[in-house]
Amino acid sequence: MNTGFIDQEKIYRYLEETTPPNAEELAKILTHAREMQGISFEEAERLLMVEDPAHLEKMFEVANYIKTEIYGSRLVLFAPLYLSSFCRNECLYCAFKKSNSMIPRRTLTQEEIEKEVEALVSQGHKRVLLVSGEGLGKNALDYTIESLKTIYSVKVGKGEIRRVNVNVAAMEVEDFKKLKDAKIGTYQLFQETYHYDTYKKMHVSGPKSDYLYHLTAMDRAMEAGIDDVGVGILFGLADYRFEIMALLQHIRHLEDRFGFGVHTISVPRLEPATNSDVSCNPPHPVDDETFKKILAILRITIPYTGLILSTRETAEMRRDALRLGISQISAGSRTNPGGYSESDSAEQFSLGDHRSLDAVIKDIIEMKHIPSFCTGCYRLGRTGADFMDLAKPGLIKHYCLPNALTTFKEYLINYASAKTQADGEKLIEEMISEIPGKDVQERTRKMLKAIENGSTDLYV
Ligand code: SAM
Ligand code: SF4
Repeated sequence: MNTGFIDQEKIYRYLEETTPPNAEELAKILTHAREMQGISFEEAERLLMVEDPAHLEKMFEVANYIKTEIYGSRLVLFAPLYLSSFCRNECLYCAFKKSNSMIPRRTLTQEEIEKEVEALVSQGHKRVLLVSGEGLGKNALDYTIESLKTIYSVKVGKGEIRRVNVNVAAMEVEDFKKLKDAKIGTYQLFQETYHYDTYKKMHVSGPKSDYLYHLTAMDRAMEAGIDDVGVGILFGLADYRFEIMALLQHIRHLEDRFGFGVHTISVPRLEPATNSDVSCNPPHPVDDETFKKILAILRITIPYTGLILSTRETAEMRRDALRLGISQISAGSRTNPGGYSESDSAEQFSLGDHRSLDAVIKDIIEMKHIPSFCTGCYRLGRTGADFMDLAKPGLIKHYCLPNALTTFKEYLINYASAKTQADGEKLIEEMISEIPGKDVQERTRKMLKAIENGSTDLYV
């Protein structure tokens, strides 16, 4: 059993020996957390043991404080774009697993991808997460690169997709270099579970069943020069405390090796998938309260790493999650190839939130948050270590709120329903005063005016 840089023995020891902090110890950890430079992983491990509801509430408060200070009141929106449901892996939790004969399979042609993107752009989306099963064999990379070109080439009126993040199989360094050259945003790959035995049990066959190859994917991606990488845990497979401790080891490993860690963390929970017992009866289910604790601990421990919640969560959980530090969500999502432009259905798993993009946005406005379609940082090269250099002294917010407001304005003018537009305009007016610095406020007003007069894609 080779678990690479994941020290399972150490985690087992911690799980056995670590005790919850008492009130005084908790206060000390949370005071440290309020400095917003992250807490030590040892402190995070103590927080993982907290069960007392009053203590949890204190952690939620601090997570909310950090979220508000660093991310302010904006929330980045994206849509997943599923390209293929063929797969040669046997991941027991997934409807796309090789042995599942209960779903029809398909791989979108470039023309079909164009139609999907047209549908997304027509709703107002600017950011897409390209997702695919692993059944494309030798052509997988060429197909992905061609699809990226197609996605970036689609224009509908004034709209287009400006950033494509990619969630596809682990690969070799040379192939990651080609993927980088195709102008991807973040490369995402979820470890699903860091627990070796569980991993082997859940990934029965196919290339993904190689724990170490999967675990070291981000090393290869970063070696290839991809500096925005996104990791994830599929909660429900193993003990969440083990998973978080291992995730922190993963991040520390990448920081030691490359000088910076991961750009985003995704936090899916197992959802029922067709023909998958495991997905319907998770071996280690994570209830809503525990999920909130996980979000709070991540926000407190690694304040500058984006946290992504998917459509899979209900609207109610999304609201709580927003308070605790989620910085990106998917909206109006379909998890079957062709799902945006056709009504046919062979979904990867069932979705908890079926609302349209406009309905999700209406909800976000009600929570006094600005829906953001911003793609500024990556297009101006603010990625990896450069992004962290700006984020850690708190400078990134000088860019984020103005860019959130301009992209939101573009949405309101070109795509929103009348009611959403009226509410959104009011919120923009309120939020301008929250931009740090009068000069940036003035610049933002000018950009907003220009958008009213027909300009698009304005950012700082
Ligand atoms: N095939 C690639 C892979 O497995 O890494 C990328 C695509 S896969 C469809 C994307 C993610 O979907 C997986 O990493 C997994 O976390 C998630 N997923 C699969 N089955 C799920 C389920 N039943 N509930 C929630 N998420 C699921
Ligand atoms: Fe295939 Fe990914 Fe689903 Fe596993 S999780 S069966 S690799 S699509």
